[in-house]
Amino acid sequence: MEDDLAKQWEGLSLTEKEKEEVLLEKNSSEVVDQYGKFCLLVMIIAEKPVNREAFKSTMAKIWKCESWFKFSEVGMNKFLIEFNKEEDLQKVIKGRPWSFDRWLLCLQVFEGNMSINEVVFNKEEFWVHAYNIPLSSMTYEVGTQIGGCIGRVLTVQVDERGIGWGKFLRIRVEVNISEALQRGVFLSYAGKKTWIPFKYERLPTFCFKCGVIKHAKSGCLVSSLGDSKLQYGAWLRAPASKDNEFPHKTYGNADTQEYAEGQSWRKEREVRDDDQKIKTKAAAEIPESCKKDGDNTGSKKATEKLISPRLTTEPIQQAFKVSPYVLNLESRELIP
Ligand SMILES: [Zn+2]
Repeated sequence: MEDDLAKQWEGLSLTEKEKEEVLLEKNSSEVVDQYGKFCLLVMIIAEKPVNREAFKSTMAKIWKCESWFKFSEVGMNKFLIEFNKEEDLQKVIKGRPWSFDRWLLCLQVFEGNMSINEVVFNKEEFWVHAYNIPLSSMTYEVGTQIGGCIGRVLTVQVDERGIGWGKFLRIRVEVNISEALQRGVFLSYAGKKTWIPFKYERLPTFCFKCGVIKHAKSGCLVSSLGDSKLQYGAWLRAPASKDNEFPHKTYGNADTQEYAEGQSWRKEREVRDDDQKIKTKAAAEIPESCKKDGDNTGSKKATEKLISPRLTTEPIQQAFKVSPYVLNLESRELIP
């Protein structure tokens, strides 16, 4: 409807007075510039108008902002939300994607130079889980490449070494909600082709026929397929994860760990290639605390880490090759 109003003049023959222009010296005032910084534009991607009051009260409960924020309705299912505190604004931006009544809230930064009809609501950030990636490729770089097939990559959840070992690689990506959700991608390495399936956290209502978030199945223009042939489904939804579930936390005595991570022989190829040297050096450098008897899980873990081949981004086979020692948990001795 707003679009129709903006284009209405095209079909009218304008009077001389209507053809006059209002010239602006500048497009915005300092006051708007100042307050616009703490504003967001939101469109509820629903097929019909939602209950505004229910929307406002629900979001107020969900967002739990420290200070006040207010809504101005700027179009059908479109709102300008003004925050009093920048922290509250950042919290809402960081927590994307949001939904109301299972419909996606598409957020856009405040664009003072545009009318609300010019603002395009077609992108939203999602956490994507990429499964089935070879362990040696579960890295920031590969995550960026894989996520880049979906859209702009914002981050890949990895530890300080750039490794993201887990059930899946978690990638934050900007998704175009006007296009079909990407269900996966092929990863090719050394002649081997692997299908990497995707799942999306907090996926709102979307079309199971064509995979687009912008409408539900009932509003789809794709010709009827019959439910048995639906190409998309709830299986694209990933269970939500909290950011702090993936800290790649380490356990054990901090000094021992620092010590273990500082082991130059773990990084230097020439030392790794010399089995005898590794054995001697590793045995000599196990901290005293790790050699003691008793159930000291911290030092036990640290010792396991010491000989673990996993602190490397080298291919796994190679890593195994260079760490030929096994820890005897009874005697705490390294056995070739
Ligand atoms: Zn559709």
